[in-house]
Amino acid sequence: MTALKKNAVGALDALYHNTNLPSEMYELLRDAMTEIELLRDRDEELEELWDQFEDIPMNQETECIEAPFLGWGVGISREEIWHWFDQRHSKGVAYLLYHGQEDYVPETKRLYGLSKLCFGCESTDCQFNHGGQCRFALVHEVKPSISEHSGCLSYEYRATDLW
Ligand code: SF4
Repeated sequence: MTALKKNAVGALDALYHNTNLPSEMYELLRDAMTEIELLRDRDEELEELWDQFEDIPMNQETECIEAPFLGWGVGISREEIWHWFDQRHSKGVAYLLYHGQEDYVPETKRLYGLSKLCFGCESTDCQFNHGGQCRFALVHEVKPSISEHSGCLSYEYRATDLW
C-alpha cells in the first residue's frame, strides 16, 4: 500500500472513531481504499486518459500543453506528462505512443529510456549539446563521463553549428 493510501486509511479510521460515521459507509470507503486494482483495469483507465491527452493542443516549439489536462495547467511540458504515464502504465509510454504496435514499442522504449539520461548543460559549443541539453547518451547509449575536478571528459568541440 502506498504512503498516501495508508494516510488516507488512517484519516478514515480517525473519522470513524471520532464521529458518528455509519459503519456501512466506513466499510465501503475502507474497501475502496485498500482494494488492489487489477493492472488491466488500471491500464484501460490510463489508455482512456491518453486518448484525452492526445486531443490537448500542444505548442510545437516549446512542447508544452496549451490547455489544462487533469491536474496540469497550461505550459506544462509534454515530457513531464509522458513521464507520469510511463510510471503508471504497465507497458510504458512507448506502448501508448504507438497504440500497442509492438514493432515500434521496444525501440521507442529504448530511446525514451536513453532520453532520461539527458540533462541540462551550459557547454553550448560541445557537439553533444542541443538547445542546452546534453544528448551524449542518445549517441553513445551511456552517460557522459564527468569528473569532479576536470569537468566533462566527453566534451567535444563543435567546429560548425550543426543545429
Ligand atoms: S558531453 Fe559533456 S560537455 Fe558535452 S553536452 Fe554533454 S555534458 Fe555537456
